[in-house]
Amino acid sequence: MEITINKTQNPKAKPDMSNLPFGKYFSDHMFIMDYDEGKGWHDPRIVPYGPIELDPSAMVFHYAQEVFEGLKAYKSSDGHVRLFRPDKNFARLNVSNERLAIPQIDEALCLEGLKKLVELDKEWIPEQEGTSLYIRPFIIATDPFLGVKPSESYKFMIICSPSGLYYPEGLAPVKIYVEDSYVRAVRGGTGFTKTGGNYAGSIRAQVVAHEKGYSQVLWLDGVEQKYIEEVGSMNIFFKINGEVVTPALNGSILSGITRMSTIELLKSWGVPVSERKISIQEVSDAYDNGTLEECFGTGTAAIISPVGELSWDDKVMLINDNKIGEITQRIFDTITNIQTGKEEDKMGWVLKVD
Ligand SMILES: *Cc1c(COP(=O)(O)O)cnc(C)c1O
Repeated sequence: MEITINKTQNPKAKPDMSNLPFGKYFSDHMFIMDYDEGKGWHDPRIVPYGPIELDPSAMVFHYAQEVFEGLKAYKSSDGHVRLFRPDKNFARLNVSNERLAIPQIDEALCLEGLKKLVELDKEWIPEQEGTSLYIRPFIIATDPFLGVKPSESYKFMIICSPSGLYYPEGLAPVKIYVEDSYVRAVRGGTGFTKTGGNYAGSIRAQVVAHEKGYSQVLWLDGVEQKYIEEVGSMNIFFKINGEVVTPALNGSILSGITRMSTIELLKSWGVPVSERKISIQEVSDAYDNGTLEECFGTGTAAIISPVGELSWDDKVMLINDNKIGEITQRIFDTITNIQTGKEEDKMGWVLKVD
């Protein structure tokens, strides 16, 4: 299938690239491809960025049959465009597709579309430290039909947003509230997928945590509310007595690409790391006996986010004196240096676009 390109006649004015918010501005072009039953995915194309028309009865509006991804493009100091592990994003999109009964995409074709889009809009990639072009591939169900069943038509799109830091705090440690009434995902549900519905159900807890002065929610398992799952849009790691621990993927946790990269880095450095069940009680006990050394979240948007304070029940745990830990800093530096080309990409994670 050939990807056609229709360039904009009216390039937009760029925002102030030295003071970028996250996810607010969008580049000049977008990638679109349609799916129709009997025809499969067709008409992959790059067109000027703009609104799309949908029937008010389009199924995505009613039953949320939708999946998405998030990744970033960087420009290295020599001006080349770099994507971080984009193949993993399209592979994961197909995992989400399977669960949401959305047809599989051709990963190689979508990657090709992404490369062409990013190359065309490369002037939209900001270069200041901490900035990047945030890329959002997504698929929506478009059948005009009010019945619960898989849609017979879909749109796959990729949009790009020059963005600054996801958390205004940057690398300053965040305060996290351990949520013990609401849950995010349950066994057999959609927790392992990137689908909007997971987020829709989580917003209320986020609002309550904000009101209490916390920036994020740490989710516990949806069955016993004992075991740690993840944070809002990040996976979570603890360093306890020299060992780095992160919850094992259990079907309700999102399999983060930053999580995977962090584990691979720690292994390559010979730092003990384990993926296993970890209860909030274990973390609390480690805090009490002085072995809770570091805590951080991992995710594409924030990359690495140190956690300075965890609040569980009536207990407030201050971690590493509310300062970024040594391992946390080393992971952040290594990943960002590889992404931006300041450090040799020994892991083979970067895809150069031009
Ligand atoms: C996207 C996401 C993450 C982080 O995954 P990355 O691939 O590292 O960006 C973690 N948790 C949830 C719920 C997510 O949606």
